[in-house]
Amino acid sequence: MPELPEVESVRRGLQRARLRAAVRSIYRSRERLRIGTAWNHENLEVLLGAHPGKVARRGKYILWHFTGASHELGLIVHLGMSGRFGLARAADPRLAHTHFVLQLEDGREVRLVDPRRFGGLRAGVRAELEHSAPLCELGPEPLDRGFNGGVLAERAAKSARALRDVLLDQHVIAGVGNIYAVEALYRAGIHPLVAARRLRESAWDRLATALRDVLRAAIDNGGTTLRDFRDVRGHVGRNQNELAVYGRAGQPCPGCGTALVGFVHGGRSGVRCPVDQPRRRGAIV
Ligand SMILES: [Zn+2]
Repeated sequence: MPELPEVESVRRGLQRARLRAAVRSIYRSRERLRIGTAWNHENLEVLLGAHPGKVARRGKYILWHFTGASHELGLIVHLGMSGRFGLARAADPRLAHTHFVLQLEDGREVRLVDPRRFGGLRAGVRAELEHSAPLCELGPEPLDRGFNGGVLAERAAKSARALRDVLLDQHVIAGVGNIYAVEALYRAGIHPLVAARRLRESAWDRLATALRDVLRAAIDNGGTTLRDFRDVRGHVGRNQNELAVYGRAGQPCPGCGTALVGFVHGGRSGVRCPVDQPRRRGAIV
């Protein structure tokens, strides 16, 4: 699933394309997009005639700004499991599983191709989008100035849940998924399945720093492509070559050479180093 760095790569690509011409037409397939059904109706027709502007991001959501005749509008896009949000020309053939096309007056198009249809779309008055679900329910942005171990601890330090699962909770911290949670826990030297409430201040600080480091590195590498992810020009990311432990169970730890150990918890897989992320008793410092 695209996580913060992949969505940020898409955001940057859209921003760089400098799309400014008004929306001429909107195509939407008849197929439902699953995540989006929880956010009320898609309301895409409000974008007709509106002019696209800045492209923002919140967690794993793109929030594309539009200026309409009477309101500042927005379009929320979630890429789900397999969604690709890409640039095209009107004359380019449409791929199978194209569920949404925004055609602009200059002949350029933005298309959502999503074979598994776990994504979501919603348009509306921007202020209303920003203050309603899903955006208003998200936790803090890990790359914002001011994010640190204290911010993370404030939201998670009382939890009895496994730390890796807490990091995947978008209400606790926005944008982190399994890949970057597993990578950050390795980098911080913390066992992924300890109860969050066992961490002390120093461990939260180390984890917050590790999260920022792995997310920033992944953005610099254009995101991680394990299968589906592509940027707006159709290019794969390069960060999959830089992952320290994710997807590498059985291979040697890059730090100590011990074989990495895979695990499954809550239906999700993960990887850890048994030496650098040992089980410990008592508080984690
Ligand atoms: Zn190791």
